[in-house]
Amino acid sequence: MPAVYCPECGGEMFFDPPAKSYVCRSCGVLYSRERLAEAREKQFSVADDEKAQAKRKRREVLKWWLSDKTRES
Ligand SMILES: [Zn+2]
Repeated sequence: MPAVYCPECGGEMFFDPPAKSYVCRSCGVLYSRERLAEAREKQFSVADDEKAQAKRKRREVLKWWLSDKTRES
């Protein structure tokens, strides 16, 4: 079974058969398999969004830098 990491703190989680859930070794949070999958999906989409934002920001800086250059010359 691949290692599962806690969406809250990033700690390693183990499967608790009586609870039918994953439990975090670090913070003790309890996630069902479904909720864990949901949380991970959300995490990935947030990361994608941040990446897109960083890209936009870089483009804006480049535009500003270029426009500044043309103004100087
Ligand atoms: Zn945790």
